[in-house]
Amino acid sequence: MRYRSTRDIDGETASFSEILLRGLAPDGGLYLPVEYPRVDAATLREWRSVLQNEGYAELGFRVLSLYIDDIPAEDLRGICQRAWNGEVFATDEVVPVTELPEGGIWIAHLSDGPTAAFKDMAMQLLGQLFEYELARRGTTITILGATSGDTGSAAEHAMLGREGVDVFMLTPAGRMTPFQQAQMFSIDDPHIHNLAVEGVFDDCQDLVKTVMGDAEFKKRYRLGAVNSINWGRLLAQVVYYVAAWIKVTEREDQQVSFAVPTGNFGNICAGHIAREMGLPIKHLVLATNENDVLDEFFRTGLYRPRSSRETAETSSPSMDISKASNVERFVFDLLGRDPVRLRKRFVEQLGNDGEFNLSQTGEFATIEQRHGFVSGSSSHADRIMTIRALAEEGVLVDPHTADALRVARDHLGTEPMVVLETALPVKFAATIQEATGQEPELPERFVPMMDAPRHVDPMPNDAAALKKYIAERVSPQGS
Ligand SMILES: *Cc1c(COP(=O)(O)O)cnc(C)c1O
Repeated sequence: MRYRSTRDIDGETASFSEILLRGLAPDGGLYLPVEYPRVDAATLREWRSVLQNEGYAELGFRVLSLYIDDIPAEDLRGICQRAWNGEVFATDEVVPVTELPEGGIWIAHLSDGPTAAFKDMAMQLLGQLFEYELARRGTTITILGATSGDTGSAAEHAMLGREGVDVFMLTPAGRMTPFQQAQMFSIDDPHIHNLAVEGVFDDCQDLVKTVMGDAEFKKRYRLGAVNSINWGRLLAQVVYYVAAWIKVTEREDQQVSFAVPTGNFGNICAGHIAREMGLPIKHLVLATNENDVLDEFFRTGLYRPRSSRETAETSSPSMDISKASNVERFVFDLLGRDPVRLRKRFVEQLGNDGEFNLSQTGEFATIEQRHGFVSGSSSHADRIMTIRALAEEGVLVDPHTADALRVARDHLGTEPMVVLETALPVKFAATIQEATGQEPELPERFVPMMDAPRHVDPMPNDAAALKKYIAERVSPQGS
């Protein structure tokens, strides 16, 4: 399988290994396969038996094999087995799927990994792929990132112990939940560096941008990123759509809908890819919180990214986004996979007008008809009510999952509705307390980390200081 940028007009393609360590394509676009591999009923039947008899990692290997042809099969199988197993995740099943008491709605538990958020599903694979690819090339990478909580901890736990990888992660000082702080700062490893920046998340992100923008420094210290536009992350996520579909169906022609709490359009983009491959998905139900940039786009055809000042701080903070970096991939497919049209209609319109308007066009109707997307948003009160009502029936969900569940209920059909759970309640204890009057239980496996010594260095909001810190800890290129 070859990959191309959404903005490529020269017909250039690259292999999986080539794009794995890159973020954006050099032309500013995002990578996608030149075409989506199609799976038929016979393949789905085979995958069903693979999941049931050989487990999640083997299913993952089968799915990934359609997209990765420059890693030998046995190596790729090993990578999948090391990423997805009952030692890394809470169960051998990796992604258990349970039905809610009301029936017809299922929860796919994507948050049983080391950091209790669905980002582990992809990040664990990325850690293994990076280690493999770096060894093959005889090089190393220095991952520099900013996090408000979930991404950074998932990245650190995935890169921990991976040969050739250093991580420098900026966090806004004092602004993460106690659980999130414990997850990151309890890590005691010479290659994992936690930095608490005097400032808010946007300051952290700006610092990363400034340092990454210094091409010479970037090259010298081999800086890289693991953000949500990385193709490897999306690919990893396709697997759990297949697994969840298998678990709630019996026949290959049965459709399922998925409800997905959405921020950067990463999780649900993988659902879109699974659907394009031919997985029988009826609807992809996109759910946002009060920050409803994407809900607005999918309902009205108007995509209007906002500034961070216009972005509300909500009780489902991992969905507090003002622009969705992965949406360009969907728009590329929507515009007929034509880079020239994408540049003209999407990139240029966004650049000139600050918005992309599809509302008066023929493509708008295809969002639901051809691509199966529907959407909705929820408020803090919705989340609280959803969590409370479900808790009374003995099921506890986190606020992000509650967003999706709330919106899912507006789109129920005769097919099973699978809500993707993206975090464990314990990560957002204050909101759970507000909804139920009780603190969520701390799963046993997280007890030691809560009292472990903290490893974090203070960092002024200053790019020069950050560069100095990195240079003192990473050996430069060629030495
Ligand atoms: C990251 C995250 C999301 C949003 O996922 P996207 O891929 O950015 O759409 C939702 N819920 C939780 C708990 C997250 O950590």
